[in-house]
Amino acid sequence: MKSDIIIIGAGPGGYETAIYAARNGLSVTIFENRKPGGTCLNEGCIPTKCFCRNAEILDGIKDSAEYGVNDMAYTFDFGQVIERKNRIVAGLIEGVEFLLKNKLITFVKEAASLIDAHSVRSVSGEIYSCDHLIIATGSVSKNLPIPGNNLPGVLTSKEILDIEKVPENLCVIGAGVIGLEFASVFNSFGSKVTVLEYAKEILPNFDADISKRLKQALGKKGIEIVNSAAVEEIRENADRLSVKYGYKGENREVVADTVLMAVGRAANVESLNLDVAGIVYSSKGIVTDDNMETNISRVYAIGDVNGKCMLAHAATFQGRKVIDHILGKENTIRLDIIPSAVFTRPEAAMVGCTEDECKQQGRVYRSKKAMFRANGKALSMGEPEGICKIIADEDGVIIGCHMLGPHTADIIQEISALINRRTTVDELSSMIHAHPTLSEIVQECAREF
Ligand code: NAD
Repeated sequence: MKSDIIIIGAGPGGYETAIYAARNGLSVTIFENRKPGGTCLNEGCIPTKCFCRNAEILDGIKDSAEYGVNDMAYTFDFGQVIERKNRIVAGLIEGVEFLLKNKLITFVKEAASLIDAHSVRSVSGEIYSCDHLIIATGSVSKNLPIPGNNLPGVLTSKEILDIEKVPENLCVIGAGVIGLEFASVFNSFGSKVTVLEYAKEILPNFDADISKRLKQALGKKGIEIVNSAAVEEIRENADRLSVKYGYKGENREVVADTVLMAVGRAANVESLNLDVAGIVYSSKGIVTDDNMETNISRVYAIGDVNGKCMLAHAATFQGRKVIDHILGKENTIRLDIIPSAVFTRPEAAMVGCTEDECKQQGRVYRSKKAMFRANGKALSMGEPEGICKIIADEDGVIIGCHMLGPHTADIIQEISALINRRTTVDELSSMIHAHPTLSEIVQECAREF
């Protein structure tokens, strides 16, 4: 069978690209051996956001006396938490399956591997060919090469979503996005959480100001975060696990009943048979150019598998860019402006350059801050902790924004749009924002320039 496009992988890169291609009149065959939706829908963004909502409710109950709601008695049914999460995920998967029911899309529910650059074989032996191949197979959790890394109770971010009970003690290895989101959620669920991070700071890609403040905020909630911790071994310790690590020349340990391995993700290329087609890849993923094209003409790689940016929305827009490239269509997609967020409590969000990046590039910039403690909506919500920092170039054009605080994952979109349109801080300060809203903080910050 021949189609215009073959896509391998039906995550937010693959399935969105298939739909966009079909809308533009291209025939598509898409392969997926699990449920569609990829990591994002099955074991990433969506299930973790369900947990975040539970965390928010529990934190609200714990603080209820502040709001005059006294003597609250409650029980926490973790089974119901898992059931609710599974229900929401299943509903969204059904939605994706419905969207893939398009007369131009053939959805093959099997894995595919390459025979050559423009043909693949499905597991059942069927052969398919295409004019353009798009690889969108995502990523898998990395594991540390240390003794004890596969003991029962040492979990990945996928497995921890289906545990039976809330761990009493949780040790998280890695203070990146995944590690901190689970640390925050399980702290709210009642676990005693310790995070061990190899680097000197948490969230290495975030603005240092935000990382520092987030570390303090999580510390105040009772999460212990140890930086400069070199994890060496995990051992069984009665019915628990002992995580041994080095810290400034000392040997230390954390005893926990569950260990979450959150030390990054690696491109999922293993069963693709890339070598047969001569596609170049490294430990970081499949090598691509600005159009996501590999070294082989008309073969593309999008999303986590190309290692450029491991975010669902990045994968979707990389795919859109590929289809526009194939069709010779102009677009205004700016893949250098990708907002991102960490769904801890409080949330952190960013878009554009950090101060450190500006300094490293020798770029002239100015930065100003505004605090949520001066924002009426944040105060009335009881969430006054946090900050907004805007970075502008020498002409006042906004080039970065870094936030910590309530709903910052939503607020950051405004700045992302403004950076796309080369807006200055003066222009932002004269755009009317509704009062009282959390979004007013960006205008407050712009007025500081
Ligand atoms: P990450 O790269 O963000 O963080 C991994 C962390 O582990 C780093 O801080 C690193 O220094 C640390 N680490 C590495 N080796 C270590 C060791 N031996 N001991 C202790 N710490 C060690 O990776 P992640 O958090 O696993 O996330 C993977 C990808 O998924 C990221 O690109 C992330 O952006 C993406 N993701 C995004 C979201 C979101 O947007 N909300 C959510 C989840 C995942």
